[in-house]
Amino acid sequence: MYELQDVSKRFGSTQALQPLSLRLPTGRTTVLLGPSGCGKSTMVRLLNGLLRPDTGRVLFDGKPLPSEGDALLAVRHRVGYALQGGGLFPHLTGEENVTLMAHHLRWASSRTRERLAELVELTRFPADALARYPAQLSGGQRQRVALMRALMLDPDVLLLDEPLGALDPLVRHELQTDLRAIFARLRKTVVLVTHDLAEAGFLGDDILLMRDGRVVQQGGLADLESRP
Ligand code: ADP
Ligand code: ADP
Repeated sequence: MYELQDVSKRFGSTQALQPLSLRLPTGRTTVLLGPSGCGKSTMVRLLNGLLRPDTGRVLFDGKPLPSEGDALLAVRHRVGYALQGGGLFPHLTGEENVTLMAHHLRWASSRTRERLAELVELTRFPADALARYPAQLSGGQRQRVALMRALMLDPDVLLLDEPLGALDPLVRHELQTDLRAIFARLRKTVVLVTHDLAEAGFLGDDILLMRDGRVVQQGGLADLESRP
């Protein structure tokens, strides 16, 4: 699905990503694990075209990621994206946040309603809270709305940038369990960012351990733990 060839990114004097080549396995969950500032978000934003690499290229389905225009939009429709805190539009209700793209694409309202019902069931979101605005939702509920929004168009890829970062431990634990079940059910290509080793092991099939803009190790949790 995704391949990075010699991709690097710099911001001013900060080398956010060193030249990097890798493939992301299709239908599996890859976790980007590492401390704050190591380049995880930069990698995610290169994957969805929010950032352009300085060198190298990002291939999606074997073709270079388009830099702009309708071609990039078409890729974005196949790549769901959610970030820490949800990144929801505060002036739209939960339902409006989730269905925004469907309206934009002029889906029939029956199709939109059906898809919304599927997502409510999948994410175990309380349906009676759909009419609430983000500020009226709990942190966990906001994250479930963000997940529904990312999944609305049934994308091939799901990019989740620290989706559980801002949650208190109990809510976080509950969402980790739900996310694992959702990933197993959907079998999509998922890229998930975290700085929590236990979370990486629980949710990831493959873990990319990052430091200072480099992938320093790659493998399952056992590979990382066996490291001296
Ligand atoms: P995280 O560590 O959770 O990825 P950051 O606080 O590093 O989040 O970054 C949050 C936002 O601020 C991002 O959009 C990032 O591009 C931007 N950002 C991070 N570092 C800088 C910086 N040194 N100068 C300008 N913008 C930055
Ligand atoms: P992470 O997600 O692992 O916390 P980021 O990818 O957000 O790391 O950031 C990697 C490095 O690049 C950090 O040093 C960060 O401050 C810097 N950075 C990220 N975005 C920007 C930006 N828009 N402007 C300047 N520096 C940035």
